[in-house]
Amino acid sequence: MAVIPRHLYLHVPFCVRRCSYCDFAVTVAPHPPGRDWIEAVAAELARVARERELEPPWRLDTVYCGGGTPSLLGAEAMGWLRERLSALVYWEGSAEWTCEANPESFTPAVAAGWAAAGVNRISLGAQTFDGAALRWMGRRHGPAGPAAAGAAARSAGIANVSIDLIFGLPGRLERDWAADLRQAIELTPEHISLYGLTAEAATPLGRRVREGREELAGEAEYAAEYLVAVERLEMAGYVAYEVSNFARPGMESRHNQAYWDGRPYLGLGSGAHSFLPPERWWNVRDWPDYLARLQSGGEFVAGRERRDAEAAGLERLWLGLRQRAGLDAGELNAAQSALAAEWQAGGWARRVGSRIRLTPEGWLRLDALAVALASA
Ligand code: SF4
Repeated sequence: MAVIPRHLYLHVPFCVRRCSYCDFAVTVAPHPPGRDWIEAVAAELARVARERELEPPWRLDTVYCGGGTPSLLGAEAMGWLRERLSALVYWEGSAEWTCEANPESFTPAVAAGWAAAGVNRISLGAQTFDGAALRWMGRRHGPAGPAAAGAAARSAGIANVSIDLIFGLPGRLERDWAADLRQAIELTPEHISLYGLTAEAATPLGRRVREGREELAGEAEYAAEYLVAVERLEMAGYVAYEVSNFARPGMESRHNQAYWDGRPYLGLGSGAHSFLPPERWWNVRDWPDYLARLQSGGEFVAGRERRDAEAAGLERLWLGLRQRAGLDAGELNAAQSALAAEWQAGGWARRVGSRIRLTPEGWLRLDALAVALASA
């Protein structure tokens, strides 16, 4: 029987310009071809449904439009998208429908149009409230942008707002991280996501770091900022339910939870990933290439893999450790239990009932701990 994916990701690849640190599948397009994009993802969905023998229409539990900058598509886009996909998939009001938005293009008109289409959760790319740091990043909004965008969402009736923040900026910027956390909390979002800055090789930032023209925060500063964030956010009533994600109780991201629980999902658009057990696949990253392949009936998938038992085991441990729920201690072998006891003694993990849960100090070492546990 076909595995039915209840979670849909749609990648909107367009941005007005590329931020200095961005390594996502992005095409610079100030006036994006929204209709072409909708037709492309609809065509991809139809092909996947045919190839995987998914019987339409099937119900979705979560829909996530990420990017890129979905808010560049304008006020009508989400209504058109929903309508265009409706022969194949549908989702009800109880479903979580998240759209990412950048403050400068998430206007009251866009908010109203999206709310009318059924969007009920917004993820705002705030990153910082420091004007100089925003300019350094190449962001187009100013420090007041997130407040205006959040107000637009709420006035339109979108009651679930998430804010993204980046930590680990170069020390020379003198960005006040505590002030950023305070300002984010003052906006009373339901959810906050943290991203540690990394210098990916192919980005302008990566080049500057390679050439010695820029220096990221050191390991100690990076760790200190993360730990301060966990402390301040928890004091403000946000639960650290995953290594990078904090939510008011009951406001966790249902879409991301599906990824962390290993549930099947479909990803549509350039660079999107999909998982229908036991197979994963991912699309070509370049939007013009993806579109041309799709329009000509060609292959738009860039790669596929079937995980072996070892890879699946490592992933299960890694996904468990990154969540507050942690791992079931009863499932660990003797060597793994001994390792977990060492972590507890070192302050990297806690035993909560039958579960082993990483502490924030443990989360700073997540990848290394997951590998060590998988090898034990
Ligand atoms: S807005 Fe987001 S997706 Fe677009 S370039 Fe900047 S970081 Fe990348």
